[in-house]
Parts: sequence; C-alpha cells; structure tokens
Amino acid sequence: MKKYSMAIAGFGGMGNWHRELLNEGYWLQNNKKNQTLNRLKVSGTFDIAENRQQHALACGLKAYKNMNELLNDPHIDIVLIATPNELHKDYSIKALKAGKHVVCEKPAALNSRELQHMIDASVAAGKILAIHQNRRWDEDYLTVKKIYEKKLLGEIFRIESRVHGSRGIPGDWRGEKKRGGGMVLDWGVHILDQALMMIPGKVKKVYATLTYVTNETVDDGFYAELTFENGLVFLAEVGTSNFINLPRWYATGRDGTALIEDFSKRGKIVRIINYNKNDAVPIKTAAGLTKTMAPRTDETIKEEDLPVVKSDIGDFYRNVLAAIEGKEQLLVSLSSVMRTMKLMEAVFSSAKTGKPVPFE
Ligand code: NAD
Repeated sequence: MKKYSMAIAGFGGMGNWHRELLNEGYWLQNNKKNQTLNRLKVSGTFDIAENRQQHALACGLKAYKNMNELLNDPHIDIVLIATPNELHKDYSIKALKAGKHVVCEKPAALNSRELQHMIDASVAAGKILAIHQNRRWDEDYLTVKKIYEKKLLGEIFRIESRVHGSRGIPGDWRGEKKRGGGMVLDWGVHILDQALMMIPGKVKKVYATLTYVTNETVDDGFYAELTFENGLVFLAEVGTSNFINLPRWYATGRDGTALIEDFSKRGKIVRIINYNKNDAVPIKTAAGLTKTMAPRTDETIKEEDLPVVKSDIGDFYRNVLAAIEGKEQLLVSLSSVMRTMKLMEAVFSSAKTGKPVPFE
C-alpha cells in the first residue's frame, strides 16, 4: 500500500500534536485499525521560529529553510497548515497549486470568501483539502448527539454547550484581530460546528453577543443562541473570565435532563418514570411558598449513567487517506465547513447590530 509523507507548516503547539498523533501514536485507540495509519508519517516542517526548527530536528524531522523548499520537495504528498489563522488561506492555496493535498487547521479561514478561494483552488488542482474539525470526535459531544438522536430525554427543546476558562485571551496571535484572533474563530468554530452537526434542519435565526472583558480588540468570549426550524434552541457560549465553570453540556427535554460536567464526561441523566404521581411537597421559605419548583421525589424520577460514546480520532486521517485514494468522501465535507463559517459570520453580524439575524 502506498505510504504518505506529510510536512507541517507552522510547527507550534498544534503542529506538534499532529506529529505526536501520527509519528508516536498518541491518542489513538489501541486497536488493529490504527495499523492503517502507519503508512502516513510526518517527515518535515517549516516554522519561522528558530526554536521550533530546532525542535523539528530533535524529533528527527527535516527542517525546511522556507515554505518554497517544503513545497518543492517531491517526496511530500500532504501539507498540514498549522500556522496562525491568517495564513491558512495563502499557505493552503500555495500548497494545492504545488500539487500537494492539504490538511488545514481550524478555522479553515478568516471568512467565507477566503474559504471559497481555498475550495476553488482544491477543485482546480484536483487535490484534497481537508479541514481539521477534530472536535467532531469529542466523546462528550457524541454522547449528547446520541441522547438527542435516541430521544433519551423525549423531545429535547434546549441544549446548552459551554466552554469556560479563566485565563483570558492567550497572549499570542490569538489576541490580534488581523491574525484571526478571538474566541468565535478559536473555540466558536468547534462548538457551533458541533451544533450544526448534531441538530438536523435549518437554523432560522441567530442572536449573539461578544465579550471584551480582558481587552478591547478581540472577542474573548461570546454567547450565541441558535433557533432551529424544529424549535430547538441551542445556546453556545465561550468564556475566558469564568473562575467557576458552568457544565460543558446541559440538555433538557419533555421527559428528562442530561448534564455533562466537563471533557472527562462526568455527568448524568435524570428521567421521569411516573407522570401521574403528584408528589409535589411545597417549599416554604420566609418570603413565600412554591409548589411549581418543589423538588421531585424518587418515586417519579430515575437517575441514569450517561450513554458514553467512544470515538477514535485516528478516523480523521484514515478518512483523509481514503479520500485521497478516491475510496471515501471527506467526513468533514467542505460544504459543512462553509456552513459553520457562515454561521460564525452570522454571530459577528448579530453581535454588531444587537439584533437576531436570519440564517438559512
Ligand atoms: P502556536 O502559536 O503554538 O503555533 C503556530 C506556529 O506557527 C508557531 O510556532 C509560529 O512560529 C508559526 N508561524 C507563524 N508564522 C509562520 C509563518 N509565516 N510560516 C510558518 N510558520 C509560522 O499556535 P497553535 O495553538 O499551534 O495554533 C496553530 C493553528 O492550529 C491555529 O490555526 C489554531 O486555530 C489551530 N489549533 C487547532 C486546535 C484543534 O483542536 N483543532 C487546537 C489548537 C490550535
């Protein structure tokens, strides 16, 4: 079977993650399937930072002197673009024109116009352009997707997806607007993409606000409410000044509620088992009484473990190779990437006007 060599442009944190995945086998499920990934290896890198070039050499990789040298190497089949976001478009197009297949980190580009140029270049070159929307393999997301699809909470009418941290915007290129900084492009691209992949049908409207708690130039958080045509409201929120995190996921339906605390998938489902039993014992406080908000008793509800879904991130690259060989369509289709990109544009547009905007 053909072996593939990949070169990485931008060998920072995420570039090195790809090297660890492909050359060291980190994060792969320990199963036989992954032997098929043995035929794809990272062999070289180019980074403008001398210390990253040195790191490449220390990892046994070739450190190209510049991008042209990398692109002119006939042994390279695939180029991974893992630079700061503002370079994704130009580097991807150059690599495609040089006859290479391209894997590009998220966000694919800074806007839908740039992404369209990349797609056009891929079509013109007849080479694969794959975008690394890797969080489609997150097990917490896949678990909520299963809960939704199997109707384990009855008809779900609200899903809240949050990513909270307290470190503000990182002090690198992510803090610069023109370099594609800001949390909508950084984390929004993941959680908005997950929303679109989970809920079928169109998004009717988007209402969003951005936060500028730690600086005045790039969004360091956002809140986006998506109303789907089936009535479901999906709330996507990113915060970087949250010293107590709200749960990663909260989903509620007519028959139950699910909660996932964090990426480690701690959480539970609480489901109704007896609608008829009137077990409400009013809560009385000094200021009044409520029957509506009285907690349920064990006779009417049941607590269950989450139906955790397992995934294997190796499937991303396995699919890229199959797409290169014409055996499969890309799992991360370019049309789905474009839809997410346009949704991020709708988020910016709503935040600017302060009003909900129609989406699809
Ligand atoms: P980083 O700052 O750690 O790495 C970027 C690297 O690019 C740096 O080493 C820098 O020196 C290099 N660079 C800058 N300009 C360059 C140029 N002109 N040519 C070549 N190299 C250049 O950033 P990161 O966290 O690794 O992010 C890189 C990309 O990966 C971004 O697009 C980011 O959105 C993405 N990312 C994706 C995930 C994910 O889960 N998919 C996670 C983190 C980052």
